[in-house]
Amino acid sequence: LNSSADEVSHLALDIGGTLIKMVYFSSDSDWPVDDEGKRSSKEKGSKNCNFVNGRLHFMKFETRKINDCLQFISSKQLHHYGGWHTEAPVDCKNIIKATGGGAFKFADLFKEKLEISLDKVEEMDSLVAGANFLLKAVDREAFTYMDGEKEYLQIDHNDLYPYLLVNIGSGVSMIKVDGDGVYERVSGTSIGGGTFWGLGKLLTKCKSFDELLELSHQGNNRVIDMLVGDIYGGMDYSKIGLSSTAIASSFGKAISENKEIEDYRPEDVARSLLRMISNNIGQISYLNALRFGLKRIFFGGFFIRGHAYTMDTIAVAVNFWSKGEAKAMFLRHEGFLGVMGAFMSYPN
Ligand code: ADP
Repeated sequence: LNSSADEVSHLALDIGGTLIKMVYFSSDSDWPVDDEGKRSSKEKGSKNCNFVNGRLHFMKFETRKINDCLQFISSKQLHHYGGWHTEAPVDCKNIIKATGGGAFKFADLFKEKLEISLDKVEEMDSLVAGANFLLKAVDREAFTYMDGEKEYLQIDHNDLYPYLLVNIGSGVSMIKVDGDGVYERVSGTSIGGGTFWGLGKLLTKCKSFDELLELSHQGNNRVIDMLVGDIYGGMDYSKIGLSSTAIASSFGKAISENKEIEDYRPEDVARSLLRMISNNIGQISYLNALRFGLKRIFFGGFFIRGHAYTMDTIAVAVNFWSKGEAKAMFLRHEGFLGVMGAFMSYPN
């Protein structure tokens, strides 16, 4: 990896409970352009966003493998460019904007291994700044998801606020956003992405998050969830508007059958788990939107991973509980809101 050809500047980090998110900017005009006029990506696992004078690189690493991240920074010499350009005064180099709990937890490690000082940016400030920036600056950033169809939204800058931002990371934060830097964290839940991955790992013996997500894709939750129809002998409970296929009790079928966890297909377990957690987050989000009269709910965080079934479950939950009044919206840079905000906090 050669950094000298790509004028790198501005590196920011979001060191979360599960994942480290990284953004850096490079002014690399010599990179190849594909048929659609888009530059192709040089690095595996890197998601890019092109700007007039260069591009933003988005990357993620597992927090438990933080050494991979340090190694990447070191091999690309990213830290030497810190927040400023190559001609930055010496005393500005090696100072990197960082948010998330790991900016505290791993400060000494960065200092020791790479002589980097982490300049901490408050986590909620970063999330909100990142979301506001992406919603305003990036074309087709937000979309709705219904019946397998994405519909991109044209965001009117003058009509963005107020909205509810739901960030589904390891845990979940719900933030009412009223303007640039004007927000309140109104709720949250500990039943989040970490719960899905943690419980999923224990119950299915999956080795990676992607494997668990893939399993859930192939599973059928009706095998384990107790449905309204299971209780009502296959009928709807129409008086209160519950169809026979509505989940009455997540994982509830397991108690009436004389089975052990090994007797269930991991696919079905993963599916029930994903549905339980997505539904719950969708419902709590809707209740908070209702509390403050908010019509728009943007969902971010790496739990979503652009996964169709996750987005569908959340969107259906919001739609169901709000009787169509509130809308669930998703973001293309879902997991990068916080790091984007930290990146934005450089003075120029
Ligand atoms: P945090 O800042 O708490 O780490 P993130 O927004 O990065 O939060 O989301 C972390 C969650 O994303 C995990 O709990 C898991 O549900 C999900 N996830 C998505 N991709 C991965 C992955 N490759 N490895 C682990 N977890 C992942």
